[in-house]
Amino acid sequence: MKVIIWGGRGSLPASMRAETVRYKIYRAIEAAEKYKFKSKSEIEQFIDTHLPFSVWGSYGGNTSCVEIRDGKEYLLCDCGTGLRDFGNHVLWSGKGPHRFHILMSHFHWDHIHGFPFFVPAFIKGNRIDFYGFRDDMEQIFVNQQNPPCFPVPFSYMQAEKAFHQLELGKAYEIAGFQVQGMEQNHPQKSFGYRLEKDGKVIVYSTDSEHKDDADVEPYLNFFRNADVLIFDTQYSLVDAIYVKQDWGHSSNIIGVEMAIRAGVKHLCMYHCEPTHGDEMLDKILRDTLKYASIYDASYPLDISMAYDGLEIEV
Ligand SMILES: [Zn+2]
Ligand SMILES: [Zn+2]
Repeated sequence: MKVIIWGGRGSLPASMRAETVRYKIYRAIEAAEKYKFKSKSEIEQFIDTHLPFSVWGSYGGNTSCVEIRDGKEYLLCDCGTGLRDFGNHVLWSGKGPHRFHILMSHFHWDHIHGFPFFVPAFIKGNRIDFYGFRDDMEQIFVNQQNPPCFPVPFSYMQAEKAFHQLELGKAYEIAGFQVQGMEQNHPQKSFGYRLEKDGKVIVYSTDSEHKDDADVEPYLNFFRNADVLIFDTQYSLVDAIYVKQDWGHSSNIIGVEMAIRAGVKHLCMYHCEPTHGDEMLDKILRDTLKYASIYDASYPLDISMAYDGLEIEV
């Protein structure tokens, strides 16, 4: 079983500017100055061992889309711009028809605006099942593609599409997983998902604010013993509790504390702030690892920062 991040950004896609690429090249050349490479493999080894991720790679810029891969049918959370890359990957990796199940956390733009560019939705014979907690999900997707906002209407997409309204407190069987939802604190509400299969637990909890005075127990129960917790860490703690209070997002500090208290194995920091560059995200990851070791040195919490293309084995 694998968790694959196709889009890790929140709120807005984040592009990379020319001067950022130039700065990465500068840092790489500077770090390589005293080395004399004799082969391609020595260069590869240098990249792997001497350059930070923010120099040799990038956290990427796609908005929310996560795949949980285990079986023939595709299971996804949200339809941000990462869905476009996922769809292209599916087309390259084998012929259909394909069946997709998409769990919707909520319907802010960054969670739906990849769908009009999801090529498998245009192919007859494919089927897409949407799941969420609203009764107007289909209309939201239709509206997104209505003129004058988009040139191709939702009805033009030839894949079979079905919408399933879920209820809180019930467990559902979706793509071989037991799935339960939880209402979260976010403007216009959002919903987290707990997915279980073969003794493994994955929790998708994005766009969720955890306030000081809120009852944390229902969340801890929802996260309990998760192998992977995908958690909204868009803001710094100061921003989350002061400057951007009630904006509906959480922080790395709250993520670490809740993950450890809930017995989580791997915390995946998610819904990355679009104004944060690669160096900043590298620094936040380092700081978070340090904070976790201070908060509870004996707890073996794995921590990663979501990037487009990150794969977590479960
Ligand atoms: Zn969002
Ligand atoms: Zn949102």
